[in-house]
Amino acid sequence: MNKKVAGVVLAVFLASFFVFVFVQFHRDYSDRECGILLAFDDYNAISWADHFDLFDAYDVKATFFINSYTPTDFCFEAIDRGHEIGFHTASHTDVTELTEEELLDQVIYPIEAFRSQGIELTTFAYPYGSYTEELNERLLRYFKVLRGAYACEVVDREQMRGGFAESFSIDNGNYRSDWDYKRRINILLWELVHNKNSVVGLYSHAIGDGDWCVGEERLEYLFRRANEMGIRFYTYQELQ
Ligand SMILES: [Zn+2]
Repeated sequence: MNKKVAGVVLAVFLASFFVFVFVQFHRDYSDRECGILLAFDDYNAISWADHFDLFDAYDVKATFFINSYTPTDFCFEAIDRGHEIGFHTASHTDVTELTEEELLDQVIYPIEAFRSQGIELTTFAYPYGSYTEELNERLLRYFKVLRGAYACEVVDREQMRGGFAESFSIDNGNYRSDWDYKRRINILLWELVHNKNSVVGLYSHAIGDGDWCVGEERLEYLFRRANEMGIRFYTYQELQ
């Protein structure tokens, strides 16, 4: 085979390869019913509410794990727009260090305060991702799902119906660059779509530029890629 023919064969091979990769990358896997449990922690109501329209543009439902003794206007607005209000203690305390009285004040009594205003708190996120097996057992009498904060775990969605669920941060501070963020998001989305009925928990705090935020463009990148691949965004309650 002379050099010219070899060159043409190589060009055809490379072109087919790139077409294959492109098609794979944009393939819709919506029949696989995979999903992302996207959450925002602490209390950043203004930043969150400012992005409600962005969520709507990609049909994204999120869970806001808030710190408050009673429901705020933000809670009612978020629920009206299809999101979930989860709980994260009244004033962001490490629950492994609380006395019994403090635990009642920080975690248990607020459940009734929210319920009396029509909001059922059924998902709890541990501040600092800090928990014990004893606390899991105790708090599962009050909540359906307890969320941790330190592992990226793709699990079957049935596992969200009760118990402890891990979750992974998409805060800016955890990624070296936009490229690093996008690479890791794409690897994760691929893992999701190759495991039917799988879900993964992701969380951030505010939306913006700080280390404890997720950049607006990064968030929109996640929304767009997930939409392209047919991956849905669920609230925790949707899977309980
Ligand atoms: Zn927190």
